[in-house]
Amino acid sequence: MIKFLLFSLCWFINVSLAGSNAQDWAKLTTPTLESVPQSIGTYTSGCVSGAVALPASGKGYQVMRLSRNRYYGHPNLVLFIQQLGQMSDQDKLGTLLIGDLGQPRGGPTPSGHRSHQTGLDVDIWFLLPKQLDNRLLTDNERETWSATSVVDMKSDRVDFRQWSSANEKILEMSARHPNVDRIFVNPSIKQELCNHKKPGSALWLQKIRPWWKHDDHFHVRLKCPTSNINCNPQAALPEGDGCDAGLDWWFTKEAKSPTKPIKPVPPPPIPSMCEQILRK
Ligand SMILES: [Zn+2]
Repeated sequence: MIKFLLFSLCWFINVSLAGSNAQDWAKLTTPTLESVPQSIGTYTSGCVSGAVALPASGKGYQVMRLSRNRYYGHPNLVLFIQQLGQMSDQDKLGTLLIGDLGQPRGGPTPSGHRSHQTGLDVDIWFLLPKQLDNRLLTDNERETWSATSVVDMKSDRVDFRQWSSANEKILEMSARHPNVDRIFVNPSIKQELCNHKKPGSALWLQKIRPWWKHDDHFHVRLKCPTSNINCNPQAALPEGDGCDAGLDWWFTKEAKSPTKPIKPVPPPPIPSMCEQILRK
């Protein structure tokens, strides 16, 4: 018993001495300068050094909720968003509205996400305004517009008043990008994409993963950048396009049952390298 108490006490001291909390990370307003930017740790417990800010507006995209100061990422992520914006603009698919990337040095956020910690995750709204042309949204619009759900929860189908083939094209373009590891969408959206699959679709459909919520935005996760040896990748995706029994499960009572919430596993402590980045 005494041994256990001692162990608990040491563990507590260790964690509270070394362990930063989300507020510490949210307070930082600048990234660290780094000649080789580094994503460190895991998507749910990590940080980024040498992050860059995504400009608030660019060809084919505009960043929402600027007040949250979560528009920083590894340069690979910023480049991905800029390229996707250009493609969307070229194909006249509408303006991408960009939600959260990460904080200036990544790390945990006090609200909203468990991941987005290594500067490799971004949320992109399904709402694709076509009428914006070159008009920039005001700061107030960026704070007050809300992301619209594209799923009819009663029928478990996409809601065709909100969903269009432009959404489908943007998901395909995103998933085909070589730096993209996976994309999280609501199961009904995955099902809609599966309904239209063609030979060869597995190449990108495999990366589109069903997940809870994600009915008003999709979440793009990039791969660990090649030279970032301290970046921990996720387990590889299962084989195949994912349009199978695994997808059917998401529509079962078990997946939807509010009486059986999925217990979040506590993330491992932030890597010590990140504690140094926090204090730089
Ligand atoms: Zn997200």
